[in-house]
Amino acid sequence: GFKCGIVGLPNVGKSTLFNALTRTAAAQAANYPFCTIEPNTGEVAVPDPRLQKLAAAGKSKEIIPTRISFVDIAGLVRGASKGEGLGNQFLANIREVDAIVHVLRCFEDDDIAHVEGRIDPVADAETVETELMLADLESLERRIIQFRKRASGKDKEALTVLPMMEQALALLQDGKPTRILLDGIGAEDLAILQGLNLLTSHPVLYVCNVSEADAATGNEHTRAVEKMAAGQGARTVVISAAIEAEVAQLADDEAKEFLADLGLEEPGLDKLIRAGYELLQLITFFTVGPKETRAWTVHKGAKAPQAAGVIHTDFERGFIRAQTIAYNDFVTLGGEVAAKEAGKARDEGKEYVVQDGDVMLFKFNT
Ligand code: GDP
Repeated sequence: GFKCGIVGLPNVGKSTLFNALTRTAAAQAANYPFCTIEPNTGEVAVPDPRLQKLAAAGKSKEIIPTRISFVDIAGLVRGASKGEGLGNQFLANIREVDAIVHVLRCFEDDDIAHVEGRIDPVADAETVETELMLADLESLERRIIQFRKRASGKDKEALTVLPMMEQALALLQDGKPTRILLDGIGAEDLAILQGLNLLTSHPVLYVCNVSEADAATGNEHTRAVEKMAAGQGARTVVISAAIEAEVAQLADDEAKEFLADLGLEEPGLDKLIRAGYELLQLITFFTVGPKETRAWTVHKGAKAPQAAGVIHTDFERGFIRAQTIAYNDFVTLGGEVAAKEAGKARDEGKEYVVQDGDVMLFKFNT
């Protein structure tokens, strides 16, 4: 599955947020049979209001949302990349994620110590980013010597990988994260970059953790973070981990009321999950039948056979074609039969690029 790693300095609210996410997931577990929760990994349902509408139009008995994972990555402190180095566990955890959710402390609370003795989320973000860049710089400097040698000996793999390594190294030496390389990158280069296993090449989303009182409005700290993030082309979500921790323990209607009293329309976690989904560049397609309406996830740009493969590897291998109905057509016309009669069911082949919201039915050879 797709994973977002939660990072940040100590005492910024990572565990509180993570626990709220997993408690919500645990509460859902009864309805969602495939929910597995490891100690530091939580799988959560991606909220999607389209599911209810599709299930109504398709007269499905059950609704199954798609899911993404969050991993709580503890252990990042100033100086972590020097001296003792980042812990092995930390490195292993952060390398296996597809995107980073960077939690920043934007709440004042004299009872909770800040590791730097002051509230300054922009400086905190720089501290964390610096540690990650130093770790990348060190590992890349070590590896590139080998690759330069091999490339001068015309080694094929080295010749393919080295240009990306050199670009990444130049950025890091210039004090810049390698995720800059993601901008407009092609599929082949992306695979090479991902193969380098760099900590700073993951896309990042900033989460501003604010007090209850600031959850609806944000504050001066969140605005400073938003400005910084905009300069990096990154997104920001304002959340109060304290609120989320409470909401996670309430029944749905109680939670709604509690949130409304605070001037909030939905749980911050829903915002966070959706932002994480977008950060991972994922889109959703649906299958709708009498048994269930189900959401599935593919990368933006995936073709029909790959989508079929998400459901079952046999579907991909034996792919023939995909009957495809756009979400709007399915819902406004009132289901598959009506959409077909209206000529809105397309037969798509191997080269079809899946669109967000497609309702798909795969024809395949067994
Ligand atoms: P971590 O070290 O980043 O995982 O941080 P924790 O989640 O353990 O939080 C550190 C402390 O800050 C705990 O005592 C939390 O209860 C508290 N905390 C977390 N979020 C908030 C918040 O939004 N407001 C306030 N006042 N305290 C918070």
